[in-house]
This record gives sequence, C-alpha cells and structure tokens, in this order.
Amino acid sequence: MSHHFPTHPIPDGFADAHIKPADYEAMYERSITDRDGFFADMATEFLTWDKPWDAVCSFDFVKGEASWFAGGKLNVSVNCIDRHLPERAEQTAIIWEGDDPKDSRAISYTELKDEVCRLANALRARGVGKGDRVCLYMPMVPEAAIAMLACTRIGAVHTIVFGGFSPEALKDRIQSAECTAVITSDEGLRGGKAVPLKANVDKSLTDCPSVTTCIVVRRTDAEVNMLDGRDVYYDEITATQSTDCEPESMDSEDPLFILYTSGSTGKPKGVLHTTAGYLLQASMSFKYVFDYREGEVYWCTADVGWVTGHSYIVYGPLAVGATTLMFEGVPTYPDAGRCWDVVDKHQVSTFYTAPTAIRALQGKGDSFVTRSSRSSLRILGTVGEPINPEAWEWYFHTVGEGRCPIVDTWWQTETGAHMITPLPGATNMKPGAASMPFFGVEPVLLAEDGSEIEGAGAGYLAIKSSWPSQIRSVYGDHQRMVDTYFSNYPGYYFTGDGATRDEDGYYWITGRVDDVLNVSGHRMGTAEVESAVVLHDSIAEAAVVGFPHDIKGQGIYCYVTPMEGVEPNDALKAELVQLCVEEIGPIAKPDVIQWAPGLPKTRSGKIMRRLLRKIAENELDSLGDTSTLADPGVVDELISNRNA
Ligand code: ATP
Ligand code: MG
Repeated sequence: MSHHFPTHPIPDGFADAHIKPADYEAMYERSITDRDGFFADMATEFLTWDKPWDAVCSFDFVKGEASWFAGGKLNVSVNCIDRHLPERAEQTAIIWEGDDPKDSRAISYTELKDEVCRLANALRARGVGKGDRVCLYMPMVPEAAIAMLACTRIGAVHTIVFGGFSPEALKDRIQSAECTAVITSDEGLRGGKAVPLKANVDKSLTDCPSVTTCIVVRRTDAEVNMLDGRDVYYDEITATQSTDCEPESMDSEDPLFILYTSGSTGKPKGVLHTTAGYLLQASMSFKYVFDYREGEVYWCTADVGWVTGHSYIVYGPLAVGATTLMFEGVPTYPDAGRCWDVVDKHQVSTFYTAPTAIRALQGKGDSFVTRSSRSSLRILGTVGEPINPEAWEWYFHTVGEGRCPIVDTWWQTETGAHMITPLPGATNMKPGAASMPFFGVEPVLLAEDGSEIEGAGAGYLAIKSSWPSQIRSVYGDHQRMVDTYFSNYPGYYFTGDGATRDEDGYYWITGRVDDVLNVSGHRMGTAEVESAVVLHDSIAEAAVVGFPHDIKGQGIYCYVTPMEGVEPNDALKAELVQLCVEEIGPIAKPDVIQWAPGLPKTRSGKIMRRLLRKIAENELDSLGDTSTLADPGVVDELISNRNA
C-alpha cells in the first residue's frame, strides 16, 4: 500500500469491455442478493445441459457442505468441444509451442474432438469408466489436455501430478487417489533437458497395485521399459478407435478431478472438485477477468499440474471456445526473451503468469523484453503469490507499455477459480492489490476472536457464502476438509491468508496467516517488507520471516537475492534497512539480512517461508516435508551461508 505507487486508471481501449464499471456493480450486487437468479442465468448462458437443475445452490458452512445445480446433468467435454463445432470446426483450439522454438502445432476444435474421443474409447476399452481415478503425469503436450478431456468424456476423475515431482511424490498421490490408470510420456522436455517421466512412473508403480493400465505418449522416442499387459503406447491404442464417443451424462455434483495443493504450508491435500459449478465459474471468470474476445490467442504459462493450468489453460478457455496456447518449455530457454518471442510469434493477446516468473525476467534486464514488439498484447495477468508493487510496475510499463490492464487474481486450488481480482474494463488498478471480489464471492476480514471487521482494516481473509467452484472434499478424508477450512471460524470458509481492505474496498493479500510477523505487538505481512526491499534497483527478490527476539518478541529476518551482476556488500545492506524504515516505518527495520543466491520454492514457484523460518530459528533438525521443493540444494546453501 505504498504511496510511491498511485492508482492507475483503466487504460484506453476498454470502453467496450464485457464488464464496465456500472455492470460490475449491478452484477455483483445481484450475484449476492439474488444468488440463485443470477447463477441460473449464468448457467444458462455459459453451459449446455443434458438436463436442467432442480435447485441452484444450497450450502451449510458450519458443516462445510455445498451443492450447486443439483439434479442437473451435463458433460464437460461436450461443453468444451462438441457444442462449439457448428461454428468453430476449423478454429484453432490449442496452439502448442514446444520447448524448442522451432516446434509448434495448431489443433482445431474438430481435431481435438477426434483425439479426445479416440482416447476416451481406448480408456473405456481398458475398463476405465465413470468414477475411476486416472493419474496424469505428463509434460506440457497437447495430449495432456486431450487426456483430461477424455477422462471427462467417460466420467473418469483425473488427478494430475506435476511432471517435476519425484517418483516418491507421484506414488503418494497415486495411492492416495487409488488410481487404476496412469497416463504419462516416455520423457518430457524442458529447457533442453529430458525428464525421465516413464522411468519415474516405473519406480512409483512398484508400490501401486491398483494401477492396471499405463498409457505412454511418445514425446522424445526414448527407449523405455514397457511392462507386458500393463503398459501400452498411446498412438497404438488410439489408432484403431473411433472418432466418436458417447459422452457420459454426469450429475452436476459428480466428481470432476482431484488435485493436490502446491504444498507450500505442509502436506498436500487432495482437493476434490465437482462438475457443473466448477465449469461455470472457470468459464465465467475466464471470459470476464481476461475480457476474452472472439478469435484472440490467450496464453497462460502455468503447468497443467497446477490448478491454474486446469482452470485457465484447459477448462475455462475451451468452454468459452477460445484459442489457448500451451507452452512446453521454460521462460528462460533458449534465453530470457522467450516469452515475448512467443507472444510475437503467435500474436498473443493475453499473457497470464506468476510473480516468480515476472521477478526472474525483470532480474535479467529489459533488453530481452524490448527486442520484441508485443503489440498484440492487450491484457496481462498474475497469480500465485502477492506481487510486489515494484514488479507490478515493471510488468505494466516495460512489458505492457502502459496499455494493458493487469489482473492480479487471488484464488486457491480449493476455490477452483478466481475469487478476488480486478476486471480489465471495470477496475482502476492499485499495484499489488488483488482488488475486488468476483461475482458471487463474499470476502470478509475476521479478527482473532472471529468477529467480522467492518470498513478499512486488516485480518484473516475468509469467505462468507458458497461460490460455484468451491472445494467439495479432501479426497479420502472429508473430515480433513472440514477441519482445515470450516472449523477455525464456524460458518466461514477460512482461506489461510491474511489481507487488508482499504478505504475504497480494495483487498490486499498480505501473505499466509502462518507467516504474519508480530514485531513488538505490530502485525505485518511478509509481503509488505519484501516489497520494500525489492524496491531497490539492485535487488531481484526477497523473502522475509520472523524469528524469536528477546525484546521485540519477533525479529525480522530477510533473505535477499541481488540482481544478476550485483556484488552484495554491507553498504547495500544498510540501504535496504533504510528502505524498509522509509517505506513502512522503524518497526519494519530488518534485524538480519542474509544474502541468498536462491530461495527455496515449491515446484510451482512459491517461496516456502516455512523452511526459511526454520533456518532463521536455527531449527535445522525439523525442516519437515521438503518433497515439494523445486531444488532442495538451495536449502543446504542457505544453511551454510547462515553459519558463514
Ligand atoms: P498449500 O495449500 O499446500 O500450502 P498453496 O497454498 O501454495 O499450497 P495453491 O492453492 O496453489 O497452493 O495456492 C494458493 C495460495 O497462493 C493462496 O492461498 C495465496 O496464499 C497465494 N496466492 C495466489 N494468488 C495470489 C495473489 N494474486 N495474490 C496473493 N497471493 C496469492
Ligand atoms: Mg493453500
């Protein structure tokens, strides 16, 4: 909430956006006061039903129960493909951009239908049917989206495990979801390096007797082990199948997928989403939050292994009939200009990524950006962590040249779709603020005692009433869902995040509740201190945690990564301390600054402050579960630096 960053008005060119300021107010108001009427209209406009619903919404947050469109029937693959065919048969559904800049492919809606049906038939032929769980452990190739949609065609429940996870992590998830089939690839390819996906699957499956089928997509044609009877090649089993497949008509509340959370705070939870409500909010938010226009090319850089990939690479875009770009590689290969090259190559209108990528690219220097045109860009988006205002400004001015609204979308695996976000044509932007609630979302700030905070203030972010794409269960452990989200403050969904609300009603996510600092009785979000530190031109990234302090209760411990080419020294440390004092106040003065060449991140790129706290506290024996770390080596390096 820094005074250095004034509010930005809606840029020119958005006067005809889907949602204008007055529309937002009227629609939001109706979505809360006439929830059933509003969402009935939306469900009619956005989805195609086999049978209409009997009741729009019922919920009981004390018990953690929610139901949307009960009695209705529909099929997700029909909504994402078949119903578009009359007017979009030849339109590109998926643009695939390979790891190697020379590799790309376009798949039309007709081709997508044919491929999905072939695989769906092949799965049925292998005995996979409604309600069965199928694990996807895939690189970012079109077959990943095809496999998701093929599961939905036959009512199977997919559970995607990010291709960067180890055999051990994969095994845990397959066992926990009791999968009967796995779909993988011989190898993946990222940043020029091969990832041995099938070999990893082989290691996991020695302990997964429930799995009777493993389908292998050929990506690199590497030699892999094929177990007779269990392992089959994708091209071989689909070649002979029909391009038509009778869709399974699903109940609104039938399970659609299970997805394990990123694991930033502890043991991942198998979040269960159901069919109609999820698809509705994914498509509504896709159209409105990205102001999607007919014919545009939209690109979300997430992996399909994360919820962002589910809702905003596959289900949201395809349900709306969009052209979605799927990228196999990494933003820094062959060099740090790759994203902008891809934007120019495919004339991308909307670019949606994570703060970790924005900070990394900013750290490489502007020349990688400015060598591209980016004239096709209309909208920018961010998700995953609070974005530091300084990084926001760089994204806005350098990448978007001040033309493109930024949508800072706050949501969670558990929420299924966007919850708090600006809308491009309706919301003035405050750098670093997730801003305003999406339709049907009633956020509240709770005080320690559970009372609701009115007006401007800070507290625990909770949600007061059900939204369509809400988590329905933690797979196999329903009580864990009730305990985690609905027990701390009975009658509310507890997000685990802290937030502030300003005088204009804008929400600012301050970080996870567990990470909140309490310095001499003053509560501060880690994001606030980090944003102050990265204001410095020499600093690329920072992570802040508290540690026990005799006088202040908690002291502030900063891990700081300098920009490439910057030599860290004590003078720079002093400047950073000064910045925190100026930006936030003397109370925010860091007690320790440790240089960190790298920060421990989850595989989706989020900083794991839990581990940093342990290192700061010198509790090195109890680091806990580190299986979701992208690079465990970073931790050893931080420990040895600490003691240096
Ligand atoms: P786990 O729940 O296993 O600890 P996780 O919370 O990182 O993992 P996700 O569901 O992928 O798993 O991430 C959701 C969290 O990411 C949110 O609760 C919030 O802390 C953070 N987040 C996401 N988007 C934003 C945003 N736009 N601004 C601030 N924080 C965000
Ligand atoms: Mg979480």
